[in-house]
Amino acid sequence: MANQYSFSFREGDGKNKALLGGKGANLCEMTQIGLNVPAGFVISTETCLLYQEKQQLPPDLMDEVKQQIALIEQQSGRIFGDAHNPLLVSVRSGSAISMPGMMDTILNLGLNQHTLAGLIAQTGDRRFAYDAYRRFIQLFGKVALGIADEKFDRPFEMIKNRAGIKADIGLEASHLEEISELFLEVVRTETGSEFPEDVYEQLSCAIEAVFNSWMGKRAVDYRREFHITPDIANGTAVNIVMMVFGNRGTDCATGVGFTRNPATGVNEMYGEYLTNAQGEDVVAGIRTPKPVSELAQEMPDLYQQLVALRDKLEAHYQEVQDYEYTIERGVLYCLQTRNGKMNAAAMVKSSIEMVQEGLISKERALLRINPELLEQLLHPQLMPDHAVPVLAQGLPASPGAACGACVFDADTAERLGKAGHAVILLREETKPEDIHGFFAAQGIVTSRGGKTSHAAVVARGMGKACIAGAEDIKIDVKLRHAIIGETHLREGDIITIDGGNGTLYLGKIPMIPACFSEDLKTLLHWADEMAQIKVYANVDTPENARIAASYGAMGIGLCRTERMFNSSERLPLVIEMILANNPQDREHALNQLLPFQREDFKQLFTAIYPHPVTIRLLDPPMHEFLPTAQELENEIHALKHYLLIVKAQRVTLETLNNPVSALPAPFAQLSEETVMAAIEKKQLMLKKVNDLCEVNPMLGHRGVRLGISYPEIYRMQTRAILEAAALCIQEGMTIRPEIMVPQVITVEELRKVKTLVLEAQQWVEAEYGLKLAFKLGSMVETVRACLRAEHLSEVAEFFSFGTNDLTQATFSFSREDAENKFLPLYNESGILQDNPFEVLDVKGVGELMRMTVAQGRKHNPYLRIGICGEQGGHPASIRFCHQIKLDYVSCSAPRIPIARLAAAHAKLLDKE
Ligand code: ADP
Ligand code: MG
Ligand code: MG
Repeated sequence: MANQYSFSFREGDGKNKALLGGKGANLCEMTQIGLNVPAGFVISTETCLLYQEKQQLPPDLMDEVKQQIALIEQQSGRIFGDAHNPLLVSVRSGSAISMPGMMDTILNLGLNQHTLAGLIAQTGDRRFAYDAYRRFIQLFGKVALGIADEKFDRPFEMIKNRAGIKADIGLEASHLEEISELFLEVVRTETGSEFPEDVYEQLSCAIEAVFNSWMGKRAVDYRREFHITPDIANGTAVNIVMMVFGNRGTDCATGVGFTRNPATGVNEMYGEYLTNAQGEDVVAGIRTPKPVSELAQEMPDLYQQLVALRDKLEAHYQEVQDYEYTIERGVLYCLQTRNGKMNAAAMVKSSIEMVQEGLISKERALLRINPELLEQLLHPQLMPDHAVPVLAQGLPASPGAACGACVFDADTAERLGKAGHAVILLREETKPEDIHGFFAAQGIVTSRGGKTSHAAVVARGMGKACIAGAEDIKIDVKLRHAIIGETHLREGDIITIDGGNGTLYLGKIPMIPACFSEDLKTLLHWADEMAQIKVYANVDTPENARIAASYGAMGIGLCRTERMFNSSERLPLVIEMILANNPQDREHALNQLLPFQREDFKQLFTAIYPHPVTIRLLDPPMHEFLPTAQELENEIHALKHYLLIVKAQRVTLETLNNPVSALPAPFAQLSEETVMAAIEKKQLMLKKVNDLCEVNPMLGHRGVRLGISYPEIYRMQTRAILEAAALCIQEGMTIRPEIMVPQVITVEELRKVKTLVLEAQQWVEAEYGLKLAFKLGSMVETVRACLRAEHLSEVAEFFSFGTNDLTQATFSFSREDAENKFLPLYNESGILQDNPFEVLDVKGVGELMRMTVAQGRKHNPYLRIGICGEQGGHPASIRFCHQIKLDYVSCSAPRIPIARLAAAHAKLLDKE
């Protein structure tokens, strides 16, 4: 019907929340499945939009409302505005999305001097009637007439005090009558007119008020905050419902319940109720409600009915419900239901149990949980009810809570960490050489940098709590302290951080530990059975590989070998390798690195066995392993200064006729020669740094380009990989390493690398006396690689999309610059929907990927293709990867459970 404004609960479409709002749709649905819902109807959200447009109710609306009221009158046998047998209604808001506390409800509408007398005559209960009346005046006064609650509170308190009554329930009929009179007076003084007596005037005012509340500041702010856009909820519906009374005596009650315990998910009656009370008394905290278990004693019959109601709700909605009910003189009415909001642990538990109870399918058990929610379960959380004030605020860079002694440099973190202390590393910003501090710390805080700063990215990869850019913290590494406003933090002071919201506290706050429960394991096991796309891990160390395995990784999709170079015993060898001026010197350094890499790889293979491991050959430009030119210049400057001191010291001692050999031990080594040698070494390094300097290093000498220029590096790495495989094979494992080449643009590069690998294979096979199998594959992270996919697949046995570089290349954005400068503006103004470095850009980068997959599989339909960019852990990106038929996504260890669930969602949503 073109201009049908309203729908009776008997006819409204229970699935159409956009039109009827969540509350209205569910009231219709519950009515139609035979639950005891008071008679009523819904005025649609479309009508609300009409109202917003014209700033008045449609002229024919109230005629339709009268017809709807007539229907309620028929069903209830009561009459709206009748002096003998009055019908009262509630007027309730409700949009497609629940916005708790944002909009209002008016109860007991339809009371005036006449109907009040009728209600008294009919019920023989003055107290009840005046209780309903004073509530109505106040609610109507507040919602429809805009009178502040305090105006009513004052006379209310006055009467209570005068009568010496503490709780509302102690008020007698005469008190409530007096309060009603005073309330009418409040309306008179505040509005300058009488309280409306005409019940239809009351009703149209109330409808208008609910419509107005949609555009009220509170509601508008709320929608902005929670990104509730018009396509999610547009306008509010108005529900008009026959009143039922929980305040008609001690055989009446009102309550709210959850069909399961929302904190734990346990299948039990859960909720609270109040006898002889109405509506919001339960939530408002005016009286302390009783746990629903007491209802079993107080009203055993009704308790049984409530259990039955709860069972029906769950059986019908196949979801945990949050419901409201009222008991009037032994009759149970259901007034509202909606899907229950629960924490991650409760969602997981209830999913498992509902399947075991035969209530829902495994598919539904998986689909009802938002994958991102699982993040909660993988990190410790702060006790929610702690009252410690926030000391500093930064960006939530990596979730989880952590507590420990603050330290200001990585070495101290490592030292204390190794000694068994919990530490939090506080830095202005972090660099790759701080990595050992990360390993030792419980959490990381930086006073500079954003969510994609080094600290943030590395911490997320490790699953450690991190706050970035807490700008109020002034750190002084030399003095070993930090200043935050008035507070002075010394090294060793205990702090607690919450990386989930970026807050830092002084002292220790109790925590709820992370739990990878049996329930979660079961759920994710179901997910794996359902999913098509596999979930691999990006890990760089054996330690992380073990964690990834425990999270259910089905392989390693990316091991960045260079991350293995950063530890203190290896970095000098790497530097020696870089400083080498000829292949022989370089090989000498590389030969010393080889055993380290071999051991790393062996451990990696073992940690995730029998799953496959993909190892990427060296990728970053070499200068990344060296200090910056500025740092070196400073050091050389300092050393030259020091040289003078050493000289002066010698001269001084000679002058005093002290032989140099008698210098105290520590000084004895610091001869001028030593210092000069140090200076020379630094100068050499500086020269190398200057030689390596590039205008745009990320587009410069890196990736396979390095491998082509210095084949001995890739030779060493492939040999280490294959030797590690050989060692594992000797121990009885079946290993088939996957060697991945970064930054490829042409198949010729792959051919060159393949030659190296084949040589290494021959050598290792001869040395170990066994046969080796391996796969050689290509990263796809340059646009040219996408365009040449068909040719690359002649040599590459697998592809892995490096969507970080590929996104940079596709957008011609440098990530750091984009995120720090213009991307936020682009997102806010809607030029770009998301940050393409977090959420895969399906329209652009995704198109390239789709094309690459098609081209790459032309000759080899079984070409294995995955994604190893950070986006691979994001549910929407996983959905896309599933659709273009990738074999796997590879993400950081802490994202694996999320990705496993998202992979199942992708498949299940495909079917729908
Ligand atoms: P909210 O969306 O804030 O929960 P509701 O519209 O559900 O607001 O109403 C507030 C309270 O009034 C709830 O406790 C509800 O159960 C109660 N209530 C609403 N309509 C009626 C009615 N027709 N009879 C009895 N109680 C009602
Ligand atoms: Mg409600
Ligand atoms: Mg890359």
